[in-house]
Amino acid sequence: MRGLRGRVAVVTGGGRGIGAAVCRRLAEEGAAVAVLDLDAKPAEQVAGTLPEAGAYAADVGDPAQVEDVVRRVLARHGRIDILVPCAGVMRGAPVTEMTDRAWTEVLTSHLTGSFTAVRAVTPAMIAQRHGRIVLISSIAARGIADHVNYGTAKAGIAGMTRSLALELGPRGITVNAVAPGFIATRMTREGAERRGRTWEEHAERAAEGTALRRIGTPEDVAAVVAFLASADAGYVTGQVIHVSGDP
Ligand code: NAP
Repeated sequence: MRGLRGRVAVVTGGGRGIGAAVCRRLAEEGAAVAVLDLDAKPAEQVAGTLPEAGAYAADVGDPAQVEDVVRRVLARHGRIDILVPCAGVMRGAPVTEMTDRAWTEVLTSHLTGSFTAVRAVTPAMIAQRHGRIVLISSIAARGIADHVNYGTAKAGIAGMTRSLALELGPRGITVNAVAPGFIATRMTREGAERRGRTWEEHAERAAEGTALRRIGTPEDVAAVVAFLASADAGYVTGQVIHVSGDP
């Protein structure tokens, strides 16, 4: 399947985990992918394996850096069709112990980072009258103990999805989100460490809590993102699709 041939995608947090799998899948479908990451090295590692891909180091918390990447992608490819903002961090603590820094880092990387990337790419999408924005929420939007910053940010992404879908639909742009469950990445491995569990024990507990009795892979998420970025999803907007092995 080469359904995204001729399309240009920007993926933030594309150097690792879910973002890297999204880059690989979109490239497999034929898209030229701009891999944006905080560090140049992981972005280069991912981009280096994909045809037509480019690596861009930027902090999504800094609008000027994101705008600069978007300018460079437009200069190279002349268009941007797909945006998938995957960048973000987790900084867990009980609410009484959560620092201002932990609160701000999480809201900035997920919420401000997604907003900034959307704002930067939409002028090009509006001019093309075509765009596919796929945001990354989480099952944590329903609530997650000891992570009020993360649960708030991910619920915010759901609100951002519906608001942008209403605003940008008339301009030919669909806006949807995926809400992953427990996916095997550095983020969940750090969760095991924080709880003093081995990875195997942590993953097994998470799997037992799902209807499908397994944890997810970054590729499980990337497949749904690729669908939402494709022509097949042209009449789907404002949806948050759970990719969690569970209702
Ligand atoms: P991950 O493996 O930790 O990857 C996160 C990526 O984001 C890293 O490449 C990281 O770069 C980058 N990043 C972080 N802050 C950034 C910033 N300020 N600017 C640019 N890049 C930044 O995490 P993941 O599990 O793949 O998570 C990807 C997305 O899925 C996140 O939005 C996460 O909340 C969401 N999600 C994950 C799960 C899960 O179970 N894993 C579940 C639901 C939702 P560096 O490596 O250079 O720091």
